[in-house]
Amino acid sequence: MKEHKQIKDWGLGLTGPTIIAGPCSAETPEQIEQICIEMKENNVIPSMFRAGIWKPRTRPGSFEGIGEEGLKWMEIVRHHLNIPITVEVGNAAHAEIALRNNVDVVWVGARTTVNPFAVQEIADALKGTDIPVMVKNPMNPDLDLWIGALERFHAVGLTKLAAIHRGFSDAYDKRYRNKPNWSMPMHLKRVWTGMEVINDPSHIVGKRDGILEIAQKAMNFGLDGLMIETHNDPDKAWSDAKQQVTPARLKEILDAIDFKRPLESEQPSERLNDLRRAVDHMDDQLLDILQERFAVIDQIGSHKREHHLPVFQSDRWKDVMESRTLKGVEKNLSEKFMKELLYCIHEESVKRQEKQLRAADPVKK
Ligand code: PEP
Ligand code: MN
Repeated sequence: MKEHKQIKDWGLGLTGPTIIAGPCSAETPEQIEQICIEMKENNVIPSMFRAGIWKPRTRPGSFEGIGEEGLKWMEIVRHHLNIPITVEVGNAAHAEIALRNNVDVVWVGARTTVNPFAVQEIADALKGTDIPVMVKNPMNPDLDLWIGALERFHAVGLTKLAAIHRGFSDAYDKRYRNKPNWSMPMHLKRVWTGMEVINDPSHIVGKRDGILEIAQKAMNFGLDGLMIETHNDPDKAWSDAKQQVTPARLKEILDAIDFKRPLESEQPSERLNDLRRAVDHMDDQLLDILQERFAVIDQIGSHKREHHLPVFQSDRWKDVMESRTLKGVEKNLSEKFMKELLYCIHEESVKRQEKQLRAADPVKK
């Protein structure tokens, strides 16, 4: 995959899990200063300070951000905490203003990631600089849109990249403000090696309770940092009041989290090596079994071709699915896993056999 620079190589002196904290929106210079003071008092200095300057609101009429003026207040943050500043940019004008005001890192919000025109316009505005860019997942669980946005920045030469996992909007599942859908950040990490993903539990949970649980889960899965909205007086916040925490609470949350050790620092123990070797061996056995299984499937395919039988037979499929799922569950495998595994194997079998039928009849190729 494309080469990119990890957070530790952004030239900002960041190490360990990246903790990004600060208000949903910059409101007044007093608010910014008070947050900084309380962060200092509580001995909770994040890796970066976040503040929304332009707020993408779902409906008009809400507070839409203080605009460029708020960027001047970031000097207060530099003065008190001396940490990098990150703001959201939603179009080329925002990007240019952020650059003019020496913002250290920009992020692209979920409502922008869905729009390739907007993403491209931001990428073009940032071209020629080496500002780090963090891309939030799009509103909808579309991995390609998320990767596509990262690729647009990469394509104009911006290589200091990271992703932010803020959950996905779901019309039915109201347990979360934005459903985490953990397979998405995992899959991003699978397909773009080394891409770091910062988890944003604030926008996933949408309220103060539950932030710790999601943040811990993110660390358990091996995500690379946290973005947590922090405000001196959350209840009076001009946006996202329900989900912001005080610096004192931020400290409690961070203290309670069991941060996992970064993988690079891991010296795999003999025990872990042995276990991994055992897994490698079993994977070889699994592949041998699959190879044999598909060889038999091919023979069934020939039989079906000779006897003019269709490939898919619902009764047989139902039997296979039900009996194997039951057996799997007895072996402590989850029902969901069994179903997905069987679908996957069956799908491949059906495709192979259909291909055989076509090969037998050149007219329909
Ligand atoms: C935010 O970070 O305040 C924000 C608007 O987030 P999102 O793009 O995740 O909705
Ligand atoms: Mn917010």
